[in-house]
Amino acid sequence: MPRIPLIAGNWKMHTTIGEATALAKAIVAASTDLVDRQVMLAPPFTALAAVADTIRGSNIILGAQNIGWASQGAFTGEISPPMLKDLGCTMAIIGHSERRHIFGETDELINRRVKGAVSQGVIPILCIGEQLEEREADRTMSVLEGQLKGGLQEISIADPNQLVIAYEPVWAIGTGKTASPIQAQEAHKFIRHVLVNLFEKSVASQIRILYGGSVIPDTIGILMDQDDIDGALVGGAALQPGSFSRIMHF
Ligand code: PEP
Repeated sequence: MPRIPLIAGNWKMHTTIGEATALAKAIVAASTDLVDRQVMLAPPFTALAAVADTIRGSNIILGAQNIGWASQGAFTGEISPPMLKDLGCTMAIIGHSERRHIFGETDELINRRVKGAVSQGVIPILCIGEQLEEREADRTMSVLEGQLKGGLQEISIADPNQLVIAYEPVWAIGTGKTASPIQAQEAHKFIRHVLVNLFEKSVASQIRILYGGSVIPDTIGILMDQDDIDGALVGGAALQPGSFSRIMHF
């Protein structure tokens, strides 16, 4: 069965409510002809409600940029899965490299978030990726394996659509340096091989693996031509409706 491509926009800490609404409006208008793929937008938490209103009636999916694990409680600054679902979010980015490297999120913490999301019905987009020094030391695959096994500990899923993985080499995020299609495919193939060890083969073969790291309209086509690349997680180019539209229409 072919995997349905997913193009996801991570707006990071950008956009006021007004700017987010205008951006979402432009993306909705550009997406009406897209029937064979999914598009997800992850605005900042403050703009989720406005973007939810703007995309209502379209095929666009709403996502969060992070997610708490408990349903409620004394967790200052966290947003729970039921709160996100209440706003219309069906997906959440977890373990983005900025969460790992700026905020010190560990595989253990990320695993809690993934568990909380899966058990409460939000689809995690689990981000993994090596730093430049790790690639240069030939440690890319062991880093990816460790992040996958750590982040997915004690996770069991029966439906491949309950989980998305994003491979985002840290050296390619926001730097203008995209991994070559060969480098990206090699990492994605390895990720699928690890997933096959973690889940039933029939499930692992259908889990979508996105590539992220300076994706632009000129690079999306060749990336999407690779066997194990099922979509993209887009940062900078997701803030420009023209660029994001071209990426959605790869
Ligand atoms: C990201 O934020 O996940 C990302 C890949 O950013 P950029 O596309 O700007 O590299």
